[in-house]
Amino acid sequence: MTDGQPLFGRVAILGMGLIGSSMAQAARHFGVAETVVAADTAPAVCDRVRALGFADHVTMSITEAVAGADLVVLCVPVGAMGEAAATVAPYLKPGAIVSDVGSVKGAVVDAVSPCLPDGVALVPAHPVAGTEHSGPDAGFATLFEGRWCILTPCECSRPDAVDRVAALWRAFGSNVETMTATHHDLVLAITSHVPHLIAYNIVGTAADLEQVTRSEVVKFSAGGFRDFTRIASSDPTMWRDVFLNNRDAVLEMLGRFTEDLAALQRMVRWGDGDGLFDLFTRTRAIRRGIIAQGQETAAPDFGRRGSQAGAIDQ
Ligand code: NAP
Repeated sequence: MTDGQPLFGRVAILGMGLIGSSMAQAARHFGVAETVVAADTAPAVCDRVRALGFADHVTMSITEAVAGADLVVLCVPVGAMGEAAATVAPYLKPGAIVSDVGSVKGAVVDAVSPCLPDGVALVPAHPVAGTEHSGPDAGFATLFEGRWCILTPCECSRPDAVDRVAALWRAFGSNVETMTATHHDLVLAITSHVPHLIAYNIVGTAADLEQVTRSEVVKFSAGGFRDFTRIASSDPTMWRDVFLNNRDAVLEMLGRFTEDLAALQRMVRWGDGDGLFDLFTRTRAIRRGIIAQGQETAAPDFGRRGSQAGAIDQ
């Protein structure tokens, strides 16, 4: 809100999944929009959003949703952004701002910016906040509080539009950082995308093991495996699209990871205790730095936290 006025008149949010429904709830909770329009192409999802009651209008038509909207936010999987933008482009109000929440930025800018008419600004954004849950019931208004939102302005971003989108995320309680889409994709490859790939891989490997029964994997999962299973239960469509659309940065980081893993393998093989101890000491310091910056708590988690407290940054 600025001087008692909401930041935006009509805000249309396309895609009522975890992030879209959290944005709609935050928009109402923090009073940033006069009208919140929620759109989703699935009838059951629209029914659920109506029942949850956090939007002023709910529609299955994304073209109807964007008509007259000052801000349109694309909250669909990365691979669906271009098609959604192309569909709504002819219906956008002159001067409107289009933003998105995609976990990959370069591919989204490439797919969305050519679709937009002159006079419509694109402000790409990525809230680095999430959980492993999907759908409208998973969302909550405070998901973005204390989390980073990264803006990656491009040629289609007017400075005033960037300022307004930054103000929206600050109103949601986020800290805003600006960088290029290329840099974003590289940073998120190592902090989010490769860790998810590792989790998917280790859970897949355990599931394939023949000498260890499935029940033993579940029974003794608290030994570290369980934390990977939470990440590996994240939405398959979303993560498929992340890896298809951030291929170069993920392969670059995966190459480095594989080299370091080989070095670690060598330390284990040759009994290099000093090497292992030194590495584990360095990594422990990184964890302490994350806690010190308020991005995680030091509280023990024995799997008893609710989904909200168990939020993970993606
Ligand atoms: P989600 O809960 O799975 O919701 C995805 C939404 O997109 C649903 O409303 C779905 O509609 C819709 N959708 C799926 N395929 C579509 C298509 N081909 N065309 C149009 N709509 C389609 O996902 P989410 O976690 O909210 O993720 C949404 C976006 O946020 C993604 O771009 C993701 O990269 C980004 N993001 C996610 C997180 C996270 O932690 N989850 C964090 C930051 C950013 P239906 O209801 O019809 O299936």
